[in-house]
Amino acid sequence: MMGQDHRGDGTIVSVGSFKDVLQDGLRNNYAVGQFNINNLEWTQAIVEVAGEEDSPVILGASEGAIKYMGMDYMAAIARVAAEKSKVPVILHLDHGSSFDVVMKCIRHGWTSVMIDGSHHPLEENIALTRRVVEAAHSVGVHVEGELGRIGGVEDDLSVDAREASLVRPEEAELFVRETGVDALAPAIGSAHGHYEGKPELAFDRLRQVRDRTGVPLVLHGGTGIPDEDILQAIRLGVSKINVNTENQSAFTDAVRAILLHDAKVYDPRKYLGPGREAIKNAVRAKIRLFGSGANNGQRGFAPRTTV
Ligand SMILES: [Zn+2]
Repeated sequence: MMGQDHRGDGTIVSVGSFKDVLQDGLRNNYAVGQFNINNLEWTQAIVEVAGEEDSPVILGASEGAIKYMGMDYMAAIARVAAEKSKVPVILHLDHGSSFDVVMKCIRHGWTSVMIDGSHHPLEENIALTRRVVEAAHSVGVHVEGELGRIGGVEDDLSVDAREASLVRPEEAELFVRETGVDALAPAIGSAHGHYEGKPELAFDRLRQVRDRTGVPLVLHGGTGIPDEDILQAIRLGVSKINVNTENQSAFTDAVRAILLHDAKVYDPRKYLGPGREAIKNAVRAKIRLFGSGANNGQRGFAPRTTV
């Protein structure tokens, strides 16, 4: 379960195995949170809380954030955070768009990636994902795929369009068998961003996908989904939940409140620090809801004892 240094040069950015962590969640009925990072403070906040809650954690690296931070800076920051932590900390490429970006991440020490071929027709999605899985698995890197279309809340789909965007269980079975992915993100009606109304998750499809595939499932767009729906999703096979928007809002609200309240503040630590605290509070609530912390009394994951 340790992050094997398969490159042999000490540049692995994760400590812990993506696949093992998700499989453990699936067996023991909890989900691991993926929280996207944007800078040093975000990484510190997420990893510190994970340690305090004794929970494995996944740091999400979107292509936009990689561009913003720089792939080398992001890898270095995540590696330091993972090494300092006593819990599994995994840096994961979020919505990788191409074979090339996956290869770049692997060269920089990533040990798990998502390849999102969901905008392609099924056959092309399978071909792209299989190519990524073959290359990644050959160096011990795990892969998440996506099926159906997980859009943004701004998409405002009609009923027919929503139906068409949802995962088809028979396709999920084929996709997992043909690609060999370690985890699958099936579109079940969640979306990225802030929801306007209450999201309607297609639990019947989730159950069918679980029964037909057997792999750990991933729920994207975790911000704003009611707690009871999150728990139901976990019962139906979701063992990774992605949260991003909620942390963005918590951080920005905290910083904005300080800047509005005090027009004279100029020391960035005076507002970045409270922003970091706000992320910690938001992440702690999610970890407790998802049941991934040993301090919660639910998790079956054994604490890491060696790096
Ligand atoms: Zn997503």
